[in-house]
Amino acid sequence: MADTDTFDLVVLGGGPGGYVAAIRAAQLGMKVACVEKESALGGTCLRVGCIPSKALLDSSELFDQIQHKAESHGIGVKGLSIDIGAMLKRKDGVVTGLTKGVEGLFKKNRIVWVRGFGRLAAADRVEVEGEDGKQTLEAKHILLATGSVPLELPFLKYDHERIIDSTGALSIPEVPEHLVVVGGGVIGLELGSVWLRLGAKVTVLEMAPTILPGMDAEIVKQADRIFRKQGFDIRTGTRVTGAERKGDKATVTIEGADPLEADYVLVSVGRRAYTEGMGFEEAGIRMERGVIQVDERYHTGVGNVYAFGDAIGGRMLAHKAEEEGVAAVETIAGKPGHVNYAAVANVVYTWPEIASVGMTEEEAKANGREFKVGKFPFMANGRAKAMGDTDGMVKIIADAKTDRMLGAHILGPRASDLIAELALAIEFQASAEDIARSVHAHPTLPEAVKEAALGVDGRMIHL
Ligand code: FAD
Ligand code: NAD
Repeated sequence: MADTDTFDLVVLGGGPGGYVAAIRAAQLGMKVACVEKESALGGTCLRVGCIPSKALLDSSELFDQIQHKAESHGIGVKGLSIDIGAMLKRKDGVVTGLTKGVEGLFKKNRIVWVRGFGRLAAADRVEVEGEDGKQTLEAKHILLATGSVPLELPFLKYDHERIIDSTGALSIPEVPEHLVVVGGGVIGLELGSVWLRLGAKVTVLEMAPTILPGMDAEIVKQADRIFRKQGFDIRTGTRVTGAERKGDKATVTIEGADPLEADYVLVSVGRRAYTEGMGFEEAGIRMERGVIQVDERYHTGVGNVYAFGDAIGGRMLAHKAEEEGVAAVETIAGKPGHVNYAAVANVVYTWPEIASVGMTEEEAKANGREFKVGKFPFMANGRAKAMGDTDGMVKIIADAKTDRMLGAHILGPRASDLIAELALAIEFQASAEDIARSVHAHPTLPEAVKEAALGVDGRMIHL
């Protein structure tokens, strides 16, 4: 490539927001470059987030099933062992397969990957510093999709060996005897589950009154009970004030309680937008506490510069970033790009899984909505019984007068897959009756969704 090259669109960041936007723009006929500083495309999600965490969750779940469930199926297993090195290698293989896949998609769509650190030099120019020196990209449109990084609290500094962030927790080289998790949010519970299943003692310290604050309270209460039964030591209302490395251990200090000693401390207290040192403010882009401010079209208000994904705040989810990126590109191309945030599902990949879309019962109350609730336990679902996975329930919240779906919450096996039907229902503005009248194959887990929808009108068949 020449020192200066010209594109219709330059995307800063090759995560799920950036790479998906790049592909959609190429489909729409634009000449596209994507600037990514890391050695692989795919961003947090593919390299150190969604994908490696799910690979380890699947490995550890398999181990847990063999250990605790095989016998009930009449399967005897002797000499069960774990090779952490092999497990981590498998995870890395899954990641490489997918990041290489994105590279392949770039080639197929003639998207140029410019490897290096990019800065917004002007509203129509990105400067990239890479291994081969500096390069300038001129663009009619620029998309900022620089994502997020783990939050580091001033009193809880990472040493990246014993006091680690989520990236570190994806590569612990041994099963810790004691893993202390600071923050009972989604990362703490997912990665805590991995190491708990593999044999670690896992203590979760959460400052809020419950784990997973903000999710439907009834679902969280049930999940909390199940997680404790699995062996999690969950301490809510517990504020961590510091962590100190001492040799191969670390000590965690807690407000009003005795300190805890751990082999590893996973600090998972949230993530922050990654936007500093890239010339955004200098270019006149409005920022609030590091978060890029955009309008409903993802426009920053400066030239033809747009932004989306974790860097603009809101819920930090890969599928949210993807849809925003597509909406931004379609808007640029004169199409009606739009994201319906009410239909964005949220999943916690513990076992059982937790998935939700739309309003929680608490939000419906706070909004002064009159609503009805239908609930169906997996205990009464034939397929869940056959699987031996009967914990949890489906809960559907519908408007009391119109029956329109307001929200849905699932705690149970494959909740991550089951929520898709309910997200679609909300997208189509369906009523609970629409779901209740749809024929669901038997015996399947989705029948629990249908039964919960019937439950909104008090006419469940199997309960
Ligand atoms: P990112 O994925 O962070 O991508 C931004 C990219 O931009 C990065 O690759 C970065 O290197 C690059 N970049 C930034 N600045 C520059 C620059 N100046 N020059 C060049 N390159 C730059 N979400 C889900 O929906 N489901 C999950 O199961 C899930 N699991 C997760 C598990 C973990 C452990 C973590 C940490 C996150 C998880 N997430 C999950 C969240 C998800 O990863 C993020 O919401 C998503 O990756 C955001 O996409 P993005 O494109 O906005 O940003
Ligand atoms: P989170 O916001 O989900 O949870 C952080 C928790 O830490 C909160 O419950 C908070 O109350 C607690 N906390 C904060 N300070 C504390 C302190 N001093 N002592 C004790 N507890 C404290 O954040 P996360 O788990 O780090 O995840 C970051 C983001 O990554 C999530 O918001 C999510 O958007 C994304 N993510 C999504 C998935 C998924 O979709 N399955 C998986 C992983 C991460």
